[in-house]
Amino acid sequence: MLSAYSPAQLLALWEQGVRRHPIDRALLLGTWARPDMPPSRLPDLPLGTLNRALLRFRESCFGSHINACADCEYCGTRLELVLDTGQLLADTHDNDTLTEFEIAGMRFRIPCSRDLAAIVMEQDISTAALKLLQQCCLSDSAETGMDLASLFTKVEGAMETFDPAADISLSLACEECGHHSSMNVDIGALLWNEIDIHARTLLADVHRLARAYGWTEPEILALSPQRRAAYLDMVDA
Ligand SMILES: [Zn+2]
Repeated sequence: MLSAYSPAQLLALWEQGVRRHPIDRALLLGTWARPDMPPSRLPDLPLGTLNRALLRFRESCFGSHINACADCEYCGTRLELVLDTGQLLADTHDNDTLTEFEIAGMRFRIPCSRDLAAIVMEQDISTAALKLLQQCCLSDSAETGMDLASLFTKVEGAMETFDPAADISLSLACEECGHHSSMNVDIGALLWNEIDIHARTLLADVHRLARAYGWTEPEILALSPQRRAAYLDMVDA
């Protein structure tokens, strides 16, 4: 239960993020996860480095076990999953330094949140992927005469190697039909969802206690979780 942060801080974070786009929410969470870094630098951080910071932040707030669910893409059965932040972090590494690489004589850099924001309005997946490739290409393709699209698979593979936490996926086997699939884990969305649930629970607690006792929001938020729960029990009794 967000031990390092007070209920009032959690609500302030939720209030700041609730109306934002998911990319901006992940960056907002990033300001909490990387207080050592100026917020203006976060949009340029490799996506995997941001994801890793969010996973560690998640671990410090709610512990390492994440209860998640996914629908089987074949039969639609809802599958309950228990993820572990340590496991998700294990096969990845931070990438603060090596952010550029070369393929077929062309220089590329690893994508960041700013790149995702630039393609967010693009409806077609392959057009979006090519745009991302163009953004991350540091060489002048007209000058080298190279067709960027022909390098797509190689560049994508290199991006995965150099920044593995950018795209965290899990393999799933359906308990119902046995279908195997792969699921992408959006760390920012997952963490935001948890913060949203905690914040709304807190607001509901404030609402009930304020109605029952006439206390103000700051007074109720200043109560320890144990006292708050005890009063809520008495309100229900
Ligand atoms: Zn299934």
